[in-house]
Amino acid sequence: MEPATVEIRNLGKRFDSTEVLRGLDLEIRPGEFLCLLGPSGCGKSTLLRILAGFDQPSFGDVIIDGRTILGTAPKDRDIAMVFQSFALYPHMTARQNIAIPLMMSRLSFIQRQPLIGRLAPGGRSVKRRIEAEVEHVAASLRITAQLDRRPAQLSGGQKQRVAIGRAIIRHPRLFLMDEPLSSLDAALRTQMRGELVELQRRLSITTVYVTHDQTEAMTMADRIVVMMEGKALQVGTPLEIFHDPQHLSVAQFLGTPA
Ligand code: ADP
Ligand code: MG
Repeated sequence: MEPATVEIRNLGKRFDSTEVLRGLDLEIRPGEFLCLLGPSGCGKSTLLRILAGFDQPSFGDVIIDGRTILGTAPKDRDIAMVFQSFALYPHMTARQNIAIPLMMSRLSFIQRQPLIGRLAPGGRSVKRRIEAEVEHVAASLRITAQLDRRPAQLSGGQKQRVAIGRAIIRHPRLFLMDEPLSSLDAALRTQMRGELVELQRRLSITTVYVTHDQTEAMTMADRIVVMMEGKALQVGTPLEIFHDPQHLSVAQFLGTPA
């Protein structure tokens, strides 16, 4: 599948009287690793939640490959999201957590076609195919040995790998990550930065990665969006952003003289 192109047009979001997104414009290129970098409270998570379909904008539009996605259900968007808090099911094993999206799509397929679902002799083979896919994803994330453990028996890094596995197993068109490494210790964070970039390259999924950490954005991104007070202030490669900040507030945030 071709990686997605995303156009965000004049996107706005208000919570009561608070304006969180203030007419944000952004183009996300197919297959790129885009980092949304900005201080806490600037609206990064709000933007990702709107892209994923967990929240609706107050105005503006989001267009993926030429089609608006607003009004479509999250499950129909073909978008996967990974959160800082992992959000794994505690009573399920790593294997079951990773398999969930495939199990769900299998269920909805069977519900739509009850006769086929009940009669198809392929029932077992679908299950075997799901198992093989889980093993494949687990191997690429190096958590094969942990597949039968529950989240409480996993380290922070392993939990995040499970969450990433669950996100990529359906080969989403757009992969969203909201500060996925921020609860890990420094050494693991550095290691996983490299691994995540490598994984993204291999899958070539259009990826939006939220962080407030400049080093993270600098080392991971193809392009960085500096976000402040609900707007995309500057977009460019890490070198362009750091060598040539276009706004005083960008320069101040980056800690470099304007
Ligand atoms: P970031 O992820 O960049 O730290 P957020 O998108 O989480 O920022 O939040 C941006 C602003 O929107 C904050 O001031 C936050 O308090 C506010 N906000 C976020 N979600 C809600 C909500 N559901 N209700 C009211 N205010 C919210
Ligand atoms: Mg946030």
